[in-house]
Amino acid sequence: MIDFDEIIDKYLIHENKPKEIGRYYPSEIGGCIRKTWFSYKNPKEVGADLLRIFEAGNLLHEFISDAIKSEKNPDIELVKNEMPIRIEEKDFIISGRIDNLIMFKLNGEQYLVEVKSTKMLPRYANESHEMQLQLYMHATNIHKGFLLYIQKDNLKTTSFESKYDENMAQNILRRFRELHLSLKNDKMPKPEAKLSDDKRWMCSYCAYKENCDKAGN
Ligand code: SF4
Repeated sequence: MIDFDEIIDKYLIHENKPKEIGRYYPSEIGGCIRKTWFSYKNPKEVGADLLRIFEAGNLLHEFISDAIKSEKNPDIELVKNEMPIRIEEKDFIISGRIDNLIMFKLNGEQYLVEVKSTKMLPRYANESHEMQLQLYMHATNIHKGFLLYIQKDNLKTTSFESKYDENMAQNILRRFRELHLSLKNDKMPKPEAKLSDDKRWMCSYCAYKENCDKAGN
């Protein structure tokens, strides 16, 4: 008997590079700041189940890129299907290769698309996804974009158009500053998700729930 799960797990497993205080990733600011803080102070291995979920997301992102660049869709032009982002602040850097980000051209205009795979299509754009997209628009100077959700089991999509909002981008940069200071000063941030009705659901998926509950508010 061949264990195909084992073959897949071996294929997906990779060594996690330790994170460095002062170098942050664009994707980590939309969620709970305390969780991100833990991921620097107390890094945990990403489990096989989560690696599979990430890989499924990558495959769907490739699928959307292929559809956009296909000659069957001549009106829309794929410009890039993954992008490096770099924002230099006074004493820290936000950088990373964003592999769920697509740039396309339609009627001479450039757009960013952030692709999110999901179990069920949402009725509204998720706030933390919108924050990521705003940060990407800020970094790339492309000020129009879409959040595109694709349902895993039937490939149906829903999308939300977004325009650059300078205030929101500045608010995201302020969150990075808060994160940086709390890491530098070794001061645990408030349990942001736990304290917010809109974000409390994040706690059910958080690998640091036990540490967080022990630390209190
Ligand atoms: S349990 Fe909730 S509040 Fe605590 S770190 Fe995780 S996501 Fe944040």
